[in-house]
Amino acid sequence: MVEYVQGTPPDRWHWCKNCTQYPLGIDKRHSKRPEYDLCDQCKKLEKKQVCVSC
Ligand SMILES: [Zn+2]
Repeated sequence: MVEYVQGTPPDRWHWCKNCTQYPLGIDKRHSKRPEYDLCDQCKKLEKKQVCVSC
């Protein structure tokens, strides 16, 4: 299951553990994909199918 996490605001939502901006301190979690403020780098990793989500 993919977990969407956000660090200290105004951070964006991340879901790839290999994203260099993946937050160390997680402020919020979401099990469904938020509709806004998604991390660009996570989107790219997902597109390339190299997103490590668990
Ligand atoms: Zn990210």
